[in-house]
Amino acid sequence: MQETDRIVRAMNEEKNVRLLLARTTRLVEEARRRHHTTPTATAALGRVLTAAVMIGADIKGAETVTLRVNGGGPLGTLLAVACGDGTVRGYVAEPAVDVPEKWPGKLDVGSAVGSNGHLEVIKDLGLKNPFAGTVPLVSGEIAEDLAYYFTLSEQIPSLVALGVYVERDHSVGVAGGLIIQAMPGANDEVLRLIEDRVQHLGPITGLLRQEQLETVVDVVLQGIAHEVIDSKPLAFRCRCNRERVTSIIAALSDEDIHQALKTRGKLEVTCNFCNEAYDFTAEDVARIRAGTGTVGS
Ligand SMILES: [Zn+2]
Repeated sequence: MQETDRIVRAMNEEKNVRLLLARTTRLVEEARRRHHTTPTATAALGRVLTAAVMIGADIKGAETVTLRVNGGGPLGTLLAVACGDGTVRGYVAEPAVDVPEKWPGKLDVGSAVGSNGHLEVIKDLGLKNPFAGTVPLVSGEIAEDLAYYFTLSEQIPSLVALGVYVERDHSVGVAGGLIIQAMPGANDEVLRLIEDRVQHLGPITGLLRQEQLETVVDVVLQGIAHEVIDSKPLAFRCRCNRERVTSIIAALSDEDIHQALKTRGKLEVTCNFCNEAYDFTAEDVARIRAGTGTVGS
């Protein structure tokens, strides 16, 4: 049984090489269960959710990081919002879409996401203006695109590995990510050593399936004096509730509401981020609409 989802931050002794390592198996499985994603959509969304919590490794409290990827591929837009408390929510526009495997056992995330588009990061740190950075996609595989984002938009040379292993029964076997960043003054030789080692370690999911996060950190940074700074639990959690959904109903047209009530006898509003459905009866709707002064005829 794998340990629960969390992210750890580690640094070398000189404090110029930073390592982020996250296990996201349960939260990606929760996203799959909620959105009924196909294996390729699970892998793509899982990578985006994992990337979002890793970009947001430093945020606190009400701060958020939004990661949006649209590569023009059949999956459409992928979006994830990570919060300072370690929770993340997100969706893929076309969860039912699948594409043929690259080779047996290898999901083709790049083709499903597409590479004709952008990766966008919005950091809302409670300041007047949120920070926003956009880069063109390199491959649509997400990890490579995120490495390009860090290098270009934040000027931090980064090594990024993201992995989601989908089992035969379509459940998530293991998911997680590894980011290694070179801060100013980092020794080129140390970086080369780490990069070389990471390449030889094989897929990150293989390590995460076997080991605790601290053990994986020790393996990646073997021979380099380092310290794990902190650890934060992670979970898939949405911010929606019945009250928030009510505001959507107030904004719908009379015709849409009339149509829904007529055909289904109720109005169902589904949250994009977590796929939770909220039902409203004709009486509920009338009361909500009355409250906003836009009562239908
Ligand atoms: Zn929701």
